[in-house]
Amino acid sequence: MDAALTRFALLAELTAQLADALSLEDVVAAVLAQGLEVLGATGAFVVLPSPAGHELRLVGYRGYPEIVSERWSRIPLDARLPAPVVYAEGRTVVVRAGAERLQRFPDLAAESDNERVLVTLPLRGRGGTLGVIGFSFGGDDAWTTEQDILYTEALADHCASAIERSQLFSEAVAARAAAERAAHRSSLLQRVTSDLAGALTPKQVAGVLVHQGVAAADAQAGWVSLLDRDGRKLELVAEAGFSASLVEQFRSIDVARPSRLVEWMRATEPVWIESADALAELMSEAEHAHRAEGFEAVAMLPLLVRGEGIGFLTIDFVTPRTFDADERALLETLARLCSQALERARLNEELAGRADAAAVLERIGEGVFQLDRAGRILIWNPAAALITGIPAEEALGRLIVTVLDGWERVATGDGERPREALRFDLGARELWLSFSGVQYAAGSVFAFRDLTEERALEEARRDFVATASHELRTPLSAVYGAALTLLRRELPEERRTQLLSLIASESERLSGILDELLLASRLDAGALTLQVSDCDPLLIAHEVAELGRQRAPEGIELPPVSVPVGDASAVRCLADPDRLRQVLINLVDNAIKYSPDGGTVEVSVTVAAPGRLRIAVADRGLGIPPAERERIFAKFYRLDPSLTRGVGGTGLGLYICRSLVEGMGGRIGVDGRGVGMAGGSEFWVELPLAPAVTA
Ligand code: ADP
Repeated sequence: MDAALTRFALLAELTAQLADALSLEDVVAAVLAQGLEVLGATGAFVVLPSPAGHELRLVGYRGYPEIVSERWSRIPLDARLPAPVVYAEGRTVVVRAGAERLQRFPDLAAESDNERVLVTLPLRGRGGTLGVIGFSFGGDDAWTTEQDILYTEALADHCASAIERSQLFSEAVAARAAAERAAHRSSLLQRVTSDLAGALTPKQVAGVLVHQGVAAADAQAGWVSLLDRDGRKLELVAEAGFSASLVEQFRSIDVARPSRLVEWMRATEPVWIESADALAELMSEAEHAHRAEGFEAVAMLPLLVRGEGIGFLTIDFVTPRTFDADERALLETLARLCSQALERARLNEELAGRADAAAVLERIGEGVFQLDRAGRILIWNPAAALITGIPAEEALGRLIVTVLDGWERVATGDGERPREALRFDLGARELWLSFSGVQYAAGSVFAFRDLTEERALEEARRDFVATASHELRTPLSAVYGAALTLLRRELPEERRTQLLSLIASESERLSGILDELLLASRLDAGALTLQVSDCDPLLIAHEVAELGRQRAPEGIELPPVSVPVGDASAVRCLADPDRLRQVLINLVDNAIKYSPDGGTVEVSVTVAAPGRLRIAVADRGLGIPPAERERIFAKFYRLDPSLTRGVGGTGLGLYICRSLVEGMGGRIGVDGRGVGMAGGSEFWVELPLAPAVTA
């Protein structure tokens, strides 16, 4: 076949081959192989600019010894070689053997038998010079004919367009891959977002993150550690893919100890570790225990809440890898989603905690209040309001010293241990309060208990010992004295009778005191049953008044019982008649006892609306201060325990009266008869009226 025809056929074949070649490597390999054959060259090469365009790189060659390919693998743009010149100027350069060759291109190796002529042509693409293609020829007369030039240029053009096409193709492939990755990432992020929405606790958030993150990044393991409440330790909250021993080793990391992990978390920037060697360089032996587990690359992402590192997420790979921009963006987004979810989860927990605390504050029986540093009241719970009688809306915002008069006595204590009860006068009330409190940077919190009753009882009990021993000793010594006198002396009959009746009456007083004590203890134990029946209060009132008249000393008068107007015999009430009698006797006895200067003691019976009977015993005696009118019914309580008014008693009488009356379904109380204590007292008992019996 004609040489020209052969060349043409070969060129046609190349065209067909190039049409199929899509990758750059295939294109270059086909061009070089055909080039040698079509042009009869001894060597051929293709160089293209590096991605950043700083140098030219050899992408394929044929027919040169390896040493040449090494020298040409990277060609600086200022190298004194044909390729950079052709690339820069976009025109063909032909170098023939001879002195001129080295003069023009000193970096070029000396010509050889294989290279007498070197032809370097630009690869012209649509947007400019793509690169450079070169051919070496062995004969000095090579590349002289028009045909040679034509075919070489045709080859270069074919090559350029095939390279351009392959570049477009690979760009399209990359774009598609990027689009697919983006779609995958967005569906993944969507899933993470929806899973995170259901994660309520930090642990659940971490769990979602570790599992999704590992899957998303095509990684083999993942880890989340978070700072504990006091920020002292990084605690492992979720993990996947690590050995039990590694988990154990890093379960809790002391933040105070120097550690790269803690440093990175604080620096709040992600760290991309692409190989085990890099890891070994960055971390201490103990910390890269990862490596022993076969992990190579690690993405370490700090988790931030309000800009501060609160933990970290690691995604671990068993092979080295380059984290490209896409992957970094994905993992950083994951970490950011996680941080937001964590912030929400922490907030949830805090709110739940606060709600609990608020519920406790609402229900707790102790008064609790919080003060700021200036002593202003920030919290005042319902118990505080109940105990002090000061409602929250009055207390909040005020200084505690203006709310609790005498507060300084509490504040000067060390505040830590429960203190003795202190007395506070709030309005007309006297309160004994015991405080305990804690100070903290922003203020203090105090809890207090109302010990008023306990204290009163305690005081009364103490007084009782004194009173009771006095009460018992007085009659006892009288009995003892009388008995001794009777024993020793011959006495006139009259004196003997006197002493014997003294013994009898004092013994009665003694047994009365003992009865009271016994009855009180039976009432306390709930061991007393009352026989409530339909009874006649008028009859009982008359009997009691009569008995009072017999016992009353001179100077005390008991006028007839005043009764309701109308048919008095129809008035009946529900009560235990014996116990009602006992109550009234006690009230009348007290009225007499506490009227040292004499006066009248009036017993009255009235019908108090609705359906209640009222029996009152009024005196003109010592009176009872309004603030004490409730307390005198307490056990052992006496207004004058030191007996300054010389009147004895156990403080049990009224306590027993109240227990009995309440046991019968009634009420008992006392009113003053004038202003303050003047004018005496009026004790009253109210009982249910018996239902009327219809004939
Ligand atoms: P006591 O044995 O001391 O009389 P009570 O329980 O009967 O005990 O009464 C309690 C206290 O109430 C008395 O100590 C007294 O101070 C006061 N009291 C009771 N009745 C009267 C009264 N009619 N007038 C003034 N004070 C009274």
